[in-house]
Amino acid sequence: MKDTGKNISQEELWAGIQKMSEDLGFADCGCARVVPLSGSREEGRYLEAGQMGHFGKMEYLKRNVDKRMDPTLLLEGAKSVIVFLAPFGGESLVTDDGLKISTYAVGEDYHKVIKDKLYRIVSFIEESCGQKKICRVFTDSAPVMERSWAVRAGLGFIGKNNFLISPKAGVKNFLGVIITAAELPYSDKTAENACGQCTRCLDACTRKALYAPFRIDASKCLSYKTIEEPLDDTEEADNGRTETFSQKWIFGCDDCADACPWNRFNKPGWREFSSNREFLRSCNREFWNSISEEQFQDLFKDTPLLRPGLAKIRKNISR
Ligand code: SF4
Ligand code: SF4
Repeated sequence: MKDTGKNISQEELWAGIQKMSEDLGFADCGCARVVPLSGSREEGRYLEAGQMGHFGKMEYLKRNVDKRMDPTLLLEGAKSVIVFLAPFGGESLVTDDGLKISTYAVGEDYHKVIKDKLYRIVSFIEESCGQKKICRVFTDSAPVMERSWAVRAGLGFIGKNNFLISPKAGVKNFLGVIITAAELPYSDKTAENACGQCTRCLDACTRKALYAPFRIDASKCLSYKTIEEPLDDTEEADNGRTETFSQKWIFGCDDCADACPWNRFNKPGWREFSSNREFLRSCNREFWNSISEEQFQDLFKDTPLLRPGLAKIRKNISR
């Protein structure tokens, strides 16, 4: 069917996108037809989480729900959501004195790394269709239900730990999204949840933030508490802490992700996502407590560690 505006069919366009995705190192990609998510089970779960106070103080999650549920409010005429899996693989980082940093934070800021690659695919789509401004790119930076679209694009299922689980590429993948007005061939096949009787992720969450399958109370979750929670609310002595005393999360938490048996399908992480690993291994308590704000900004510019900032990291160490 020649309906992409230029002499290229939907199938040819999609084949080109898949080829570029592979060449750029994405572990998989899929496309879903744009439909409003309002009234869907995904919207129901989202609204319920907000009503139950599970967003903590992340007020931005409560805003723009209409846009979150309807891609046509983010891009006029949106027809397709294309989701890409960017593997970050690897293990959580443990410093020589037991401070732990989430796997995804030991390299460059993933937003920029992924967007740079997605813009190249956007150029290809727009050139192929002979039209400009028919795409928008998102990586965890705007109200988009990335995981819901990934499932609808046939990339995998949502595990009880709330991660997208890809039978092809495991658990540790960032999701990059292109919303486009170009139409593509959709398979409309989605995978059923394949957790079965497994409860490893629930058992691994010692804080019981993951308190039931698919239910996370962010206000108790270490990923929220060590990164997003406002500094003034960070407890100096967190008596509810049940991490082992020899090791302590100071940025994020991978316990419910690491517990998942689907990790055996993880692809090797992109080099950019582990570029600081060796250096960070040596960043012990003494390091964090002695560097100046200026040094911190210089050493960690364009990395995820800038988000909590030095003062918050220090407070996380003293919890
Ligand atoms: S990230 Fe850690 S604290 Fe949060 S739900 Fe998972 S295991 Fe629990
Ligand atoms: S650990 Fe088990 S229950 Fe949890 S997401 Fe993985 S397979 Fe599902």
